Amino acid sequence: MKFVADTMLGSLARWLRVMGYDVLYQSRYGPDDLERLVGEGRILLTRHRDLAASYGDALLLSGDRAGDQLSELGKLQTLAPDPARWFTRCLLCNVPLKNPSLEDVRENVPEYVLHQNASDIRFCPSCGRFFWPGTHRENMIGQLNAWGFGYEDSR
Ligand SMILES: [Zn+2]
Repeated sequence: MKFVADTMLGSLARWLRVMGYDVLYQSRYGPDDLERLVGEGRILLTRHRDLAASYGDALLLSGDRAGDQLSELGKLQTLAPDPARWFTRCLLCNVPLKNPSLEDVRENVPEYVLHQNASDIRFCPSCGRFFWPGTHRENMIGQLNAWGFGYEDSR
């Protein structure tokens, strides 16, 4: 399931990426961009009724906030959250994270992280950022739990 989010849905796009979904988002789109992206099999997420009506594969959302919008997608049974896929995608670049070599980890990650989380360190092949479990991730899991996408961090 792949999405393209309209210009008003940047926060939703980010949260969907947290859950592992492939979501393209740009703060502006050229005249033919949406048509091309929907043509490539992406579902348009939008808050514009006329935009939704223009595309067969579009979901019209009414909520103002990402949490409300995620609930709407949940009710439409669009989302089947799989915690195994959470935190597998770069939140900035929308590309799948990869396992770095130990050498790269040593050069790019603080030593205490290496000791605590060596097997959970990932990197983005597009922007080069490294990611690992920590407070920021726990906060995001807490927020997703509060929104009803239950997830227990077993680590
Ligand atoms: Zn990235």
